Amino acid sequence: MLVKTIKDMKSIVKKLKEKGKSIGFVPTMGYLHEGHISLIRCSKKDNDVTVVSIFVNPIQFGENEDLDRYPRDIERDLQICRDEGVDFVFYPSADEMYPDGFSTYVEVEGLTNRLCGAFRPGHFKGVTTVVNKLFNILQPDRAYFGEKDYQQLKVIQKMVKDLNMNVEVIGCPVVREKDGLALSSRNKYLSEKERESALSISRALFEGKKMFEKGEKDPQKIISKMKKIISSYPEVKNVQYIEIVDPETLEPKKKVEKGDLIAVAVFVGNTRLIDNIKI
Ligand code: AMP
Repeated sequence: MLVKTIKDMKSIVKKLKEKGKSIGFVPTMGYLHEGHISLIRCSKKDNDVTVVSIFVNPIQFGENEDLDRYPRDIERDLQICRDEGVDFVFYPSADEMYPDGFSTYVEVEGLTNRLCGAFRPGHFKGVTTVVNKLFNILQPDRAYFGEKDYQQLKVIQKMVKDLNMNVEVIGCPVVREKDGLALSSRNKYLSEKERESALSISRALFEGKKMFEKGEKDPQKIISKMKKIISSYPEVKNVQYIEIVDPETLEPKKKVEKGDLIAVAVFVGNTRLIDNIKI
């Protein structure tokens, strides 16, 4: 069932709570793919009711980013949600979420300065603010986030812990195409040639992991090999970062250990892609 206003959504949630139903929540920006579907399936498994939100959150995009051209197809998304047995789709407008005079933000310090945060000032402030609003509206028992956006997952978990929020934040594994490319709504931007070059990212991540498994502990050696692989593809315009970090603090490692995270952000053509792997 499609719900467009906060008022209607809150009244539905109130009734569900009165009936003692558990609520699982999957926040998305729409243009759904198998990555989103994996989160929906986890939520369906754990909860009485699953709510998916579809909201391209303007305040998490920088000025020169892709807010205006972000892919949208609400009819297709609704069909996927129906097919997956989603109970409610919350689809508010930007004005509904940010009426005139809106001026309150939630910011997680520290973690948000690293990795993507260093290149996208204000991005995580937009994410934590909207997720906080969505949590208040939906009062979910559990919320599902993809490890594809690993830093986002950690930032949300930190917010929930620091602010004593009553929701369990659950991370779900990265879903990939058969050839390794991590699914992303932004893959839609890629031309055929760019799609080929985008494969460099997962190939480099798999190679990085393999090097560690063969005994390499020096992050710089792994990173420089990965950089070489990625840069060898013609459509790769800019390697924003390749880092090996502690999976909790996201601080760079001096010596690589099992459980560390390799994270990458790369521009392929004009499209910024991110991916990561735990080693
Ligand atoms: P988005 O619509 O891109 O904001 O993503 C909504 C949620 O789906 C986020 O929690 C993402 O981490 C998750 N997600 C996106 N792509 C993938 C993927 N390939 N595998 C797993 N989760 C994903």
